[in-house]
Amino acid sequence: MNKEIKSLKPELLWKHFAAICAIPHPSGHEEAIREYVVAFAKEQGLEYLVDEGNNVIVRKPATSGMEDRKTVVLQSHLDMVPQKNGDKVFDFEKDPIEAYIDGEWVTANGTTLGADNGIGAAATLMVLESKNLRHGPIEALFTATEETGMDGAFGLRAGELKGEILLNLDSETEGELYVGCAGGLDANIKFDYTADKSEFKSHKAVDLEVKGLRGGHSGMEIILQRGNANKLIFRFLRLAWERYDIQLASVDGGGLRNAIPREGTAKIYVPATEVEKFKRDVAEYEKIIIAEFKGIEDAISIKAVDSMPGTHGVIPKEVAMRLTRAVCGCPNGVITMSMSMEGLVQTSTNLARVVSDGATIRLQALMRSSVDTEKDALAGSMCSVFELAGAQVELSGGYSGWRPNMASPILKTMQEVYNKLYGKTPAIAAVHAGLECGIIGGKYPEMDMISFGPTIRFPHSPDEKVNIESVAKFWEFMKATLENIPKK
Ligand SMILES: [Zn+2]
Repeated sequence: MNKEIKSLKPELLWKHFAAICAIPHPSGHEEAIREYVVAFAKEQGLEYLVDEGNNVIVRKPATSGMEDRKTVVLQSHLDMVPQKNGDKVFDFEKDPIEAYIDGEWVTANGTTLGADNGIGAAATLMVLESKNLRHGPIEALFTATEETGMDGAFGLRAGELKGEILLNLDSETEGELYVGCAGGLDANIKFDYTADKSEFKSHKAVDLEVKGLRGGHSGMEIILQRGNANKLIFRFLRLAWERYDIQLASVDGGGLRNAIPREGTAKIYVPATEVEKFKRDVAEYEKIIIAEFKGIEDAISIKAVDSMPGTHGVIPKEVAMRLTRAVCGCPNGVITMSMSMEGLVQTSTNLARVVSDGATIRLQALMRSSVDTEKDALAGSMCSVFELAGAQVELSGGYSGWRPNMASPILKTMQEVYNKLYGKTPAIAAVHAGLECGIIGGKYPEMDMISFGPTIRFPHSPDEKVNIESVAKFWEFMKATLENIPKK
């Protein structure tokens, strides 16, 4: 089946893509694919190095007459997401991807294809191999382990690259130019407590359960203003503290650090004589929340359910109230929108997790921004709220964003080139999530960057497919861009 793929145009690009498919390269298992690139560079007589981040850098001199152009970094990542259908017998560390042509698309039999980012890498190898292109000096940067943490981009040394322009080839819609992304920063928050093991004989255990929220990616989907289960739990608790002599036994809300929390539960001890009234209040609260989120959430469920006492005692009331106030007070959701790009979230935060274990309550929020200083200010707000509440806050996992620069010279060049080739202006976009460009730009603040690519549908899933015609258009666009790179 790879034979058919090799007959697609441009041939050299598809030849390399077929070769990449034949080499197992799931994230974290990239030795063989790295070796393929290194062997290729040797065979072509090109200068190369493997850096401490396991990235491969290959340098190709300018073609004749193009020596005065700015150096271009062509960047793609070496790894792919290993996903397969439940019934597919497949070992991503051993088996070649079974790529085949399906109408206008190339896809794989029961697994991810790895067009993300194999097409970008193949196009780069074609530039390095071709003898009949016109381009200035090229630095091909093949990064390691992008899909599970952008390890290669983090490991790249400042000063290693000489290029002034970076073309990231990891976007998924042909005809769109990406000019920005968000950086991120984790807030890890901790309240310590000594559990109160009193029996609370006149109380009954009730679980406050929030369910049925849509959740989603805390970057890409924060703009949809979906409900946050943690926020909804504590919003009710704040009212409940005023109305009832309750105790908070435990709380467990949210899951993944980069997901909007869909559900959560708080175990509450309610005075036995007031349980029914408490339940009516919860039912009333559910109505209010359903009405507030009409058109956004359609399956919200907030219930007070009879339960069993927990085994860890209760969180002392004074701590539980500080926690409640801090969760209610902490920023959450979209904080600012970009003024230079319509519809782009500039800064956001998501309270992803709140969980108690009998001795500590841990909370986790992931803050994102394309403007690093704004992200730092937001972190300041988070720290302020939780420190006022007596919690310890530790910030970690910070990485830079990529602020859209509408005056970028390479953006102007590529818009003109695209227009000339295809008679229309490419769309300009940015994402409110992390891309390697953010991290690389953090180390190379002067780098002029753009991300583009062919049209890939359903990346990271066994339905992944790449549009054949879009690959040809992507290649022509890349080739013409290289011909038109400005002089130094
Ligand atoms: Zn990718």
